[in-house]
Amino acid sequence: MDMLGVAARLNTVSADTCVQWLSDVPVDQWLLGGSAGGDGSPMSLPRRLLLTWFFTYFGGLGLYYLMATADFVLVFFVLRRWLMPGYTPDWPSVRREVTYSTRSLAIMAGLTTPMEVAIQLGHSRVYHDPATYGWAYLLASPVLFLLFTDTIIYWVHRGLHHRALYKHIHKPHHSFVHTTPYAAFAFHPLDGYLQGVAYQAFVFVFPFQAAMHMASLAFVSLWTINIHDRVSIGVSGVNGARHHTVHHLTFKANYGQYFTFWDWVCGTFRDPDSVGGAAAAADAATPAHVLEEEVYGKKYL
Ligand SMILES: [Zn+2]
Ligand SMILES: [Zn+2]
Repeated sequence: MDMLGVAARLNTVSADTCVQWLSDVPVDQWLLGGSAGGDGSPMSLPRRLLLTWFFTYFGGLGLYYLMATADFVLVFFVLRRWLMPGYTPDWPSVRREVTYSTRSLAIMAGLTTPMEVAIQLGHSRVYHDPATYGWAYLLASPVLFLLFTDTIIYWVHRGLHHRALYKHIHKPHHSFVHTTPYAAFAFHPLDGYLQGVAYQAFVFVFPFQAAMHMASLAFVSLWTINIHDRVSIGVSGVNGARHHTVHHLTFKANYGQYFTFWDWVCGTFRDPDSVGGAAAAADAATPAHVLEEEVYGKKYL
């Protein structure tokens, strides 16, 4: 497909078009009992808020169930004999990851909805026509996006490990020490919201093409699933699943999201291989992890 063809496609993909599409299907009537929309009349704010929440929650949940399950089956069953010999899933913990994620995602979707609606209503710097700021900017904007979000997320995550915030907001996620992909959304809703808000904040500061904004939200969901499966190919500078496993095992290292840059700069980087191979270890009794009480002075759960 040539550049113009790509541009035409990108032009039609946005959260707004998805919400408009939702307004044309009966779910709108089931939820609100109103007219189905699509008649050219502007969508009322309450309807837009509700449909945006519906789209965010059920879209996110569908992606989570599908991709976390695929990842879980692949890593913990199909490839287990090579990756994690001797491992048996801790089913009560897996169940807790799923129920916690399912519940929290509903509230997280609610917290992100106002900003998404503001974006749909044109109050951000999201643009549709890919040529608006030139092709060079279009191609450079994901790099800018990664620099912006990785910086904010590092510091937000590190802040959440401060004793005062940790016990109230971040502890629920760290109650899962030996994670599976199902831990992806197992956050206190405020924790999940704070760690994700940079994705929306970016488009209020920098221009970002609408389809790229959508893709960035879908991609971070996939990334969050991926970094909880404990297995990653070591790519220098990338904060993969083995790095995030070290985070869950030691509490105070590898706060980054996509990259290890800020961990390197701030001295919080810990090489997975230095933790006795614990990052790849499947054994639920991995001895290398630091006890929570050693870090925070007490055990919270
Ligand atoms: Zn953490
Ligand atoms: Zn985690």
